[in-house]
Amino acid sequence: MSERAAVAAAYRELGRRGFTPGSAGNVSLRVRGGMFITPSGVEAGAVTAAGIVRLAENGRVTGGVPSSEAPMHRAIYRAFPAAGAIIHTHAEAGTALACLGQPIPAFHYMVVAFGGAEIRCAPYVTFGTPELARAAVAALDGRRACLLANHGVIVHAPDLKAALADAIVLESLARQYLLARAAGTVRVLTAAEVTAAMQRFASYRRGATG
Ligand code: 13P
Ligand code: ZN
Repeated sequence: MSERAAVAAAYRELGRRGFTPGSAGNVSLRVRGGMFITPSGVEAGAVTAAGIVRLAENGRVTGGVPSSEAPMHRAIYRAFPAAGAIIHTHAEAGTALACLGQPIPAFHYMVVAFGGAEIRCAPYVTFGTPELARAAVAALDGRRACLLANHGVIVHAPDLKAALADAIVLESLARQYLLARAAGTVRVLTAAEVTAAMQRFASYRRGATG
């Protein structure tokens, strides 16, 4: 599969899962000299390889109109050399939690797989702005995912397959956290338990999270 086709396929998969209502969300893949990114304002089911936009590091655009969140994708690639692919969604459970403006604590050990004791929530900033790009980069420090307050979620991973898997795991965790909170008082892992889980992840060959 070509790189453009892989980006389109990932975005369509997010659409099938209901993670990108309307034309919400966007997907990019880092390539030499820039990135391939989904077009702005196009519903996931309608995006094909031919519709994927190339955005060069110098800002040159080839194809249609790049996602309005291209500045956020670009800032994340700049800040995190290990990021090879980025997925932003408005998936329901993750977005619901983002609307609380709070991090997801280590209520489940898999939270730690995203890099630390909690998945942070970046403060609310208008979509598509350089300010949102800065807020996301700050919330992603040492992490591969964060919530975007009153907006959605974003993940980065070494490649598209891992980013897609992470976006799915994150939504599952968000749903589990919502269910647990609705059912009672959630016990969050202790600092020692988080450290132990981090150590296990360091030696664990992960499939879902890169
Ligand atoms: P685009 O259609 O421009 O990618 O915007 C969708 C979105 O989620 C904005 O935050
Ligand atoms: Zn969005």
